[in-house]
Amino acid sequence: MSALNTRTKLSTLLSAWDAYCAEPHFDHFVEFALGVNTLAEILRVGPSVGLARISQDLEQEALALFGAPESHPISPEAREQLATHIRGLSQLLTGEQPAALPDRRQHSAESAASVALQPPALYLISDNDVRWQELQAQLGYFGLAVQRIGWSEAPRQVQSFFLLDLTGVDWPQLAELRRNNPASQLIALGLDSEFALMHQALKHGCDHCFPRDMSRPAMVAHILELQDQHDDDGYRVLIVDDSVTAHALIRRALAEQGIETRALADPRQVLDTLREFQPDLLLLDMYMPGCTGVEVARIIRQHPEYLSMPIVYLSGETDLALQVEALRLGGDHFLTKPFNPVFLNAIVKSKIERYRALRRSMEHDSLTGLLNHTSSKTQLDIALDQCRQQQKPLCVAMLDIDHFKQVNDRYGHPVGDQIIRSLAWLLKKRVRHSDILGRYGGEEFLLALPGASLSQGFAVLELLRQDFAAIHHPYADGYFQLSFSCGMAAYPAIESREALIQAADDALYRAKRGGRNRVECA
Ligand code: GH3
Ligand code: MG
Ligand code: MG
Repeated sequence: MSALNTRTKLSTLLSAWDAYCAEPHFDHFVEFALGVNTLAEILRVGPSVGLARISQDLEQEALALFGAPESHPISPEAREQLATHIRGLSQLLTGEQPAALPDRRQHSAESAASVALQPPALYLISDNDVRWQELQAQLGYFGLAVQRIGWSEAPRQVQSFFLLDLTGVDWPQLAELRRNNPASQLIALGLDSEFALMHQALKHGCDHCFPRDMSRPAMVAHILELQDQHDDDGYRVLIVDDSVTAHALIRRALAEQGIETRALADPRQVLDTLREFQPDLLLLDMYMPGCTGVEVARIIRQHPEYLSMPIVYLSGETDLALQVEALRLGGDHFLTKPFNPVFLNAIVKSKIERYRALRRSMEHDSLTGLLNHTSSKTQLDIALDQCRQQQKPLCVAMLDIDHFKQVNDRYGHPVGDQIIRSLAWLLKKRVRHSDILGRYGGEEFLLALPGASLSQGFAVLELLRQDFAAIHHPYADGYFQLSFSCGMAAYPAIESREALIQAADDALYRAKRGGRNRVECA
């Protein structure tokens, strides 16, 4: 999310609101609601849960007032309330201090906007400077710097993660922190698992409560998960409709949300375009010359790779029996024209999210969230093809945790699982988006670095090896340390995927025989 993008969407929303205030027609309200929806969507995938929540509240408020043409203009009270909320959000985004929150600090709009949209940092607010040291250290191994401050030093107007030690803190203090940092995520640590207490903590502004008996590794795991934003690629939608006007309307509505679209007027090209464009969803017109949307959907569903891709029909058809029949024959949803753009966006987004979540669960390992064995190999094939075309090297590493059986035997299987997860996180935090990272077997990982030569890859893995060996894995009152061994091989010296993995595996075997905790190259 760029600050610029957010500001552009905010100004679109504000002009739509001004237009509605000047001429309170339904059409202007639709534009305004679409503006709020768009901004809320951008903020929802951004780093700030607080801003996302505030914008979603505004969206709910706008949608509740949507009504029909006859219900506009809305009442003066509703309009005043809406205006107050728009002002509040706008001030948060541009960094101007909201009138309701007097603050001694003055920001220029420019610097505060960049403050407001920076990626989250982690604050630990506690008046006890030793109690959470170990948690701080553990998070440090994963590259999360935690700054401890006392309750009297709590900052204002930052967008951050706050870990809170509520010992000796009264509820108004917590509520004030929430008020001063509406866009932050607040996590209460070590709370007694008691209904009334948690109720109060959540009511006064906490987003999450970690109960007292939650283990430190579990806290680390949870915090890493909360920090882990799915940096998914943008959504892609294919429109098949013989009307060019429909193309323009739909593309405009979806472009507002940053959704990439491709439009086809001739349904006979649909299979080629699906293969090439790889959309997340298909918007399909019901009536086209030569064939119907239902026929197109049936043809698409003959291909196993498109069995679960969502298909949404767009049509002027209001006959319920026909709609039911269309859904029965391979569609997922039916939208009638003229469509409400906010509704179209909501349907498209939610279908795509579910589809992506489904694909994620099929392609990823549930313990670590990394690619599973099969998709590691598939992704490696794709990357290898690309490197071959672009004449770039590609480096493959196989990692295996040393003496892992002893971890299970000594500390138990759940601790073993936690170790696997922590190596996965370390790798995930440190590799690039374009790298391929998979859980290849039990405690064995595959890492492929497209564009990296063997020596470049070696440098990366050598650092990772040293850092993993330095992690203190907590157990009972103490800790233990572990290491991994690694074998590497690279394209173009080795040509095929099978041979690369085999060569890396052989090198790994040599690393094990050579004494473990080392990286060997083929
Ligand atoms: P080496 O240094 O030679 O790799 O020794 P090792 O003990 O790590 O070797 P080995 O491959 O024989 O043992 C791997 C162990 O990992 C065996 C299996 O019980 C354990 N394991 C595999 N998958 C999981 C898992 O998901 N969770 C846990 N806790 N243990 C697992
Ligand atoms: Mg092992
Ligand atoms: Mg093994």
